[in-house]
Amino acid sequence: MSTVTRFAPSPTGFLHLGHAFSAWCAWRRGGIFRLRLEDIDATRCRPEYAAAILEDLRWLGLHWQGEVRVQSAHLADYRAALDQLAARGLLYPCFCTRRELSLSAPHGATPVYPGTCKHLSAAARDEKIAAGTPYALRLDSEKAIAQAGALKFFEESQGWTEAQPARLGDAVLARKEMPASYHLCVVHDDAVQNITHVIRGRDLAEATHLHVLLQNLLGLPAPVYAHHRLLRDAQGKRLAKRDGSESLAAFRQSGIQPQALLARFEDEA
Ligand SMILES: [Zn+2]
Repeated sequence: MSTVTRFAPSPTGFLHLGHAFSAWCAWRRGGIFRLRLEDIDATRCRPEYAAAILEDLRWLGLHWQGEVRVQSAHLADYRAALDQLAARGLLYPCFCTRRELSLSAPHGATPVYPGTCKHLSAAARDEKIAAGTPYALRLDSEKAIAQAGALKFFEESQGWTEAQPARLGDAVLARKEMPASYHLCVVHDDAVQNITHVIRGRDLAEATHLHVLLQNLLGLPAPVYAHHRLLRDAQGKRLAKRDGSESLAAFRQSGIQPQALLARFEDEA
């Protein structure tokens, strides 16, 4: 079986050096390199960013094979996956507002949902839904873990690793305004695009525990995982979208050649 990797950016800004490094880490593995635009966040994604990402990748020489998968064009697929989980009794509506959620999370910590809405009575749920209160759908992780049983995944730097999805709590699988969420879509699409090796930044390593659980529940194959280090600036700070100076567009405009960036990636890898 040939290797299939992917790069899956969200078009919420211009590609910066950290993203490009991530794309390169996947591309340089060889085999088939696929591209996917994770654009389900309609309030933050913009078509001009999507176009710029494609242009930047071409400029760098990171050519992908096949069609670009655009998530917003496949909402019915994600709905079907949600239905599959709902049929197993694994989803529940969460009416919490952003503010309520931020109050329940310790400052600066990765918020794990405290399960507030899981304990609502059926009558209270029906009442809120009837009143038109917007709601997200969360995975009942306790039930899901019980149904799936013990799971393992293969992470290249660690070998076989026991999945501990409870660490992520009851994740959102459908957002209030969208029948989908990052976690649901990434798992679904890695399978649809026949990805054999998910090569992505260490910032996403923790999510793997949940992704492996979702793969199991949805009957999808589990790819191999590899999490690369994150690029940092001269001050040791992680590169982020807000640092416009590190955007590929800015590098290009300043006359830097793609070979110079690729050489830096080789040094960093
Ligand atoms: Zn809630």
